[in-house]
Amino acid sequence: MMQTPLLLTQMMDRAEKYFPKKKVISRTESGVQSFTYKEIVERTRRLASALHQLGVQKGDKIGTLAWNHHRHLEAYFAVPCSGAVLHTINFRLSPEHIIYIINHAEDRFLLVDADLVPLLEKIKDKLRNVKGYIIMTDQEKVETSLSPVYFYEDLLTDGDPTYSFIEDLDENTPAGLCYTSATTGNPKGVIYSHRGIFLHSMALGLADTVGMSEKDIAMAVVPMFHVNAWGMPFASMWFGTTQVLPGPYFTPKLLAELIQEYKVTLTAGVPTIWLGLLKEIEENPYDLSSLRGVLCGGSAAPRSMIEAFEQKYNIPFLHAYGMTETSPMALISVSNSSQESLSMEERMDIKAKQGMLVPGLDMKIVGKDGEVKWDGKEMGELALRGPWIASEYYNDDRTGDAFRDGWLYTGDVVTIDEQGYIKIVDRTKDLIKSGGEWISSVDLENSLMAHEAVFEAAVVAIPHEQWQERPIACVVLKDGYQDSVCKETLMEFLRPQFAKWWLPDDILFMKEIPKTSVGKFLKRALRDQVKNHLNKV
Ligand code: AMP
Repeated sequence: MMQTPLLLTQMMDRAEKYFPKKKVISRTESGVQSFTYKEIVERTRRLASALHQLGVQKGDKIGTLAWNHHRHLEAYFAVPCSGAVLHTINFRLSPEHIIYIINHAEDRFLLVDADLVPLLEKIKDKLRNVKGYIIMTDQEKVETSLSPVYFYEDLLTDGDPTYSFIEDLDENTPAGLCYTSATTGNPKGVIYSHRGIFLHSMALGLADTVGMSEKDIAMAVVPMFHVNAWGMPFASMWFGTTQVLPGPYFTPKLLAELIQEYKVTLTAGVPTIWLGLLKEIEENPYDLSSLRGVLCGGSAAPRSMIEAFEQKYNIPFLHAYGMTETSPMALISVSNSSQESLSMEERMDIKAKQGMLVPGLDMKIVGKDGEVKWDGKEMGELALRGPWIASEYYNDDRTGDAFRDGWLYTGDVVTIDEQGYIKIVDRTKDLIKSGGEWISSVDLENSLMAHEAVFEAAVVAIPHEQWQERPIACVVLKDGYQDSVCKETLMEFLRPQFAKWWLPDDILFMKEIPKTSVGKFLKRALRDQVKNHLNKV
C-alpha cells in the first residue's frame, strides 16, 4: 500500500473542495456571525501567510489564549499546516502556571482574545521567548501595554488568500501542544502529531463511537484549550460538519438558545455543563429535539443525569472517557445489539459506565496479581496504547511516572465486565482505603446525585486512626430543599444501596464544590476544606 502522510492540510482541502458553502457559526464579543468553510479556509491561508511574514518557522510554538470562536478555529489549521505547533493555553490556570507553560513551551507568538489581554499584561515581563502578541477581536483597536502588538484582522487584510501550505510535512510532525494539570508541581505538556490527530478524527466518525458526519451540526462547549475541544474542530472541518462555536462567557441559557436556534445535533462538554443545562431546561421550555447526542466526559457522568437526559427529555447521551494524554477519546459507552432485549434500568447501568475501548487502541487492566478478570468486580489500573496515545510528556522528567514499557498508565482504577464495558472506579489517588478495603468515591457521588434534592456531591477521604481513611460527603442542595433535607435524609437514602462500612462518616452541606479550571471537582482543595472544618468542630 502507499505510504501517504496523514496531515491536517487534507482536512482543510476537503472542506474547501466539497463543503465551501457549509457554515461555521461563531459567537464573539459582538454577537453571532456566520462564515462559510470557503471563507474560513481563505482566512486561514491569510493567517498562515501573515505568520510566515512575521518570521514563524517550522517547529515554532504559537500559543493561544482564546474562547471557542472562528478565529481560534483558523489558528487550529493555519499554525500546524505551516509546520508550526499550536499551543492552546488554559487561561483559567493560575498566573504562575500560565507563565510556566508559556516559557516551557517556548511560545514565540501569542494569539489572545481582547478580554484576556489584561491577564497577559500582568505577566508579560516574565515571558522569556514571546516575540509578539496578536489580538483577536472585532474591535478596531484595544489599548494595551503588550508590545509588539498586532491585530488579527489587520494581519488577515494584508495576508495572502492564495497562500499554499507546506506539502512535504512528515506525518509525525508536532501539530498541537496541551498542558495537563499535575497533582503536584507544574503542568505537564503533551504533543499531538498530525498523524495522531488525523487518526483520532477518523475514530470520531465511526458509527459505533460518536459517528460524526457531514449531517451533524456540532457545538463543542468543551474549551478549545481542553484537549483540542476533544478533536471536534478537526473532525468537523474534515467531514464538512456545520460548527456552532459558543464564544466567551456562555451560560446554560445561552447554550440552550444556541441548540434551539441552530438545531445543534451533537454537543460536547464536562458533566458540570450538562448539570447546568438540565437545570435550565427544567425551569424554562426549549425545543432541543434536534439533539442526537450529548457527548460527556472529563469526569464521571452521574447516572441520574444520564437518565434525565434520556428518559425525561429523550436526548441520547454519550458517556466517554479520555485524557489529555489520549487525544482524548479512549472509551465510549454506546449500546450494541446484545442490549436490545435489556430493560431500561439495565441499559442505564451500562450507559453510566465509561464504555468500550475505541477501535484502534489497545488496553490492559493491571491489578495486584496481574491482568484483572472480566467480571465487573476485580479492580486494576487502566493502561492504554495506540496511535493517538502520547508516548511521553514534552521535555519533562516526569515521563517515567506514567509511560512504561510502551504503555500509558492512566492512574485510573477500573473494572471491566464480561462484555468489555469499563467502569472508572476512581483516580488512584481519590480511591478511599478503609480498613484495608477500597471504597469508590465515584459510586457514592453517583448515588447521592440521584437524590432529587441533590445538585452536586463529591466524596473525599480523610485520615482515620483506626481505619486509615474514611469517606466524607460534601453536598450542594438544589434551591428549595435547604429546609427539608438534612444529613439523616441522605444517609437513609444511601443505606439500602451500600455496605455499612461504605457509608460516609459525615455529610457536609456546602454552597458550592471547588472545581478545577476545566470544571471537575477539585478534590485536593475539597479535602483541605473538609479537614479545616473537622478541626474546627
Ligand atoms: P484531563 O487530562 O484533564 O482530561 O483528565 C483526564 C482524567 O479525567 C482521566 O484520567 C480520568 O481520571 C478523568 N476522566 C475523564 N473522563 C472520565 C469519565 N467519563 N469518567 C470518569 N473520569 C473521567
